Amino acid sequence: MKTIYICGHKSPDLDSVMGSISYAYLKSQVDTKHEFKPVITGSVNNETAYILDKYDIQAPGVLDSIANQSVILVDHNEGHQAIDGLAEAEILEVIDHHKLDFSYHTPIKIIIEPIGSSCSVIYKMFRAEGIDIPQNLAAGMLAAVLTDTVITKSPTTTKQDRKIIEELADIAGIADWQEYGMEIFKVRSTVSDKTADEIVVSDYKDFDINGNKFGIGQVETVDITEFNARKAELLDALSNKKSAENYHSVILFLWAFGPGDFLANLFCSSDSPEPVAKCHANQKMIPIKSNHPSVPTIG
Ligand code: MG
Ligand code: MG
Repeated sequence: MKTIYICGHKSPDLDSVMGSISYAYLKSQVDTKHEFKPVITGSVNNETAYILDKYDIQAPGVLDSIANQSVILVDHNEGHQAIDGLAEAEILEVIDHHKLDFSYHTPIKIIIEPIGSSCSVIYKMFRAEGIDIPQNLAAGMLAAVLTDTVITKSPTTTKQDRKIIEELADIAGIADWQEYGMEIFKVRSTVSDKTADEIVVSDYKDFDINGNKFGIGQVETVDITEFNARKAELLDALSNKKSAENYHSVILFLWAFGPGDFLANLFCSSDSPEPVAKCHANQKMIPIKSNHPSVPTIG
């Protein structure tokens, strides 16, 4: 029996992992002539490990190269994000929710929808095929939709995602999906095992603002007290980075969110901290651009 691998992007997130697992399940229900195997390119992140363990879902095996194999790509379509050896592989399908940057030498099935997650796309495919989703897979898929849509707060969230979230929660027997989302983000944003330096650069970019070098990092949390307790340590890390790399300012945004809107807090080491403090006090954001899904468009 021919094996067809199903694989998400490198640095796999929950949507990539649950997308591969759930799509492999769906394919195996409708095509018994092939073996469908979900695989990952590296170790899973905190929240993925948490969900797989919680719902007793088998983690995909790790594959270093897909060369000379057949593969279905999930949650990505750009070659540089894909598993090594893709140029020497046979690509059978692409199931995704990102912009298309893909070409291939022969016609294949490509399903890309402008919705919140790959698991939303796959949920619709389950419905179209009339296949029931096992309860534990539904819980995992729901976790992926909630993560990718930042519990529906991301601008990428669509009406369809909201409906899919309700339906998956129903199948999974999860009474309060908002609470479930917070539980996942709590695991995702746990920083207790990270040093202050690691926290500062975990999601970090340099910017040139009026000829001045700014470094801006951001972290998401559902528990701001964890950061406030480490304020002195984080300020030291910002200050060390600022002087070592000759910045005008190094700023760490703390995105604390709950059932309501995002609330921003920030720590900063700057040559002119007053305007930054003023911006913060006025609840105005520094004019940065970020394509991070958890951050609303700023400036
Ligand atoms: Mg992804
Ligand atoms: Mg995704």
